[in-house]
Amino acid sequence: MGTYAVSGAASGIGAAVAARLTGDGHRVIAVDLKEGDVRADLSTEDGRQAAIAEVRHLAEGRLDGVVPCAGLGPVTGLDPAQLVSVNYFGAIALVEGLRPLLTDGGAVVVLSSNSVTAQPGWSGEVASACLKGDEKAARAAAAESEPVHVYPATKAAVAYWARREAVKAEWGGAGIRVNAVAPGLIETPMSAAMKADPKLGVFVKAYPSALGRGGRPEEIADLIAFLLSPAASLLVGSVVYADGGTDALLNPVWP
Ligand code: NAD
Repeated sequence: MGTYAVSGAASGIGAAVAARLTGDGHRVIAVDLKEGDVRADLSTEDGRQAAIAEVRHLAEGRLDGVVPCAGLGPVTGLDPAQLVSVNYFGAIALVEGLRPLLTDGGAVVVLSSNSVTAQPGWSGEVASACLKGDEKAARAAAAESEPVHVYPATKAAVAYWARREAVKAEWGGAGIRVNAVAPGLIETPMSAAMKADPKLGVFVKAYPSALGRGGRPEEIADLIAFLLSPAASLLVGSVVYADGGTDALLNPVWP
């Protein structure tokens, strides 16, 4: 059985991933701001380095996978720069910092979102600065925008990071598979806050789905467990949508 580091494990999708992996007999090192094996604020460089050091210590030198689920939703009033620091830099720093513990057969699954293709008008400047690794510039660009336009930009950057890095010698070349999931609206505390948001709520509630319902966190956890497993041995650099058909409804491939 394996050992997996899961951030955002105190709530929503991260909690479901931790429960699924634990139920399968694996060991989970839970990282979160609120509670868990490692309590850390992934929005700051100090918090990220402390989390990496503590996970390394608890993992005793070896991990089978990393799933950075910690994230913030685009609610009104949130500092948009925080979205950049948690959703992109917090996630990527954790994954990159823990890479030395992963070996051939290891796997990473990062959390993108179907908002990247469902929602027009997101900030390319923010995504571009993220992918250049320039947190200061990304935060500055985000501060000029709105949370609702910054959130998909951070999630586009996460997906493009996965595609760019997955094929490099130190990841795919070393047998460590990197993939992304792009969930649609999943019923978690994050989406509940978005539904209750005075500006955003009306649009979130109208988000279309072929199934006519939001997703369950366990449905994303099942997908992530598959992507981490040897059954997904040929998946490298894939961005897998799991959204009940939202992306297919909004972006049909042929008119
Ligand atoms: P959630 O709010 O239920 O859980 C997020 C967790 O991240 C919380 O436990 C929180 O404490 C933790 N966290 C937040 N800021 C942190 C920080 N600075 N340091 C450490 N931990 C921090 O959210 P969720 O819905 O489970 O979302 C999980 C991931 O899935 C996020 O990356 C989110 O963007 C992504 N996602 C969610 C949805 C959705 O509809 N729920 C859709 C697409 C993608």
